[in-house]
Amino acid sequence: MSCEGETVALLRSGGHRLTPQRQRVASALQHAGGHRTVEELHALIAHEQGAPMPLSTVYRALTTLKELRAVSEIDAGGRSAFAWVDRSRPHHHLVCRGCGTERDLDPALLQRLGDAIRAATGFEAFLDHFAITGQCESCRQGAARA
Ligand SMILES: [Zn+2]
Ligand SMILES: [Zn+2]
Repeated sequence: MSCEGETVALLRSGGHRLTPQRQRVASALQHAGGHRTVEELHALIAHEQGAPMPLSTVYRALTTLKELRAVSEIDAGGRSAFAWVDRSRPHHHLVCRGCGTERDLDPALLQRLGDAIRAATGFEAFLDHFAITGQCESCRQGAARA
């Protein structure tokens, strides 16, 4: 299935009307890839053919796509960023509050936490995409020396 086809199926399965705005925002984010702020997506859409879309409309479309778990929002160093969710390949980030460095976290670690939560409570946590903030090893060592 093409990625547009997947988006259409996903939006319909969520019982949401497939407005052209939602579809444009979804496809802009899918094709841009990675993490994008609402302003970046707004700018990308402004360069496309078709009527310009106000920032508030882009933001509302992202909110709906988030409810459908098609899009996730993370705090990327103090600014909100959106990413297309690939549920078959979750990914997570460790972001250092001290120096801003970022590294990937093995999704298996969060999967184990998800399994433990489910076993203990019956609750299924949606662990598609996380940015966990903290302090990296070199910042911790620097803090210990200071
Ligand atoms: Zn990410
Ligand atoms: Zn650091």
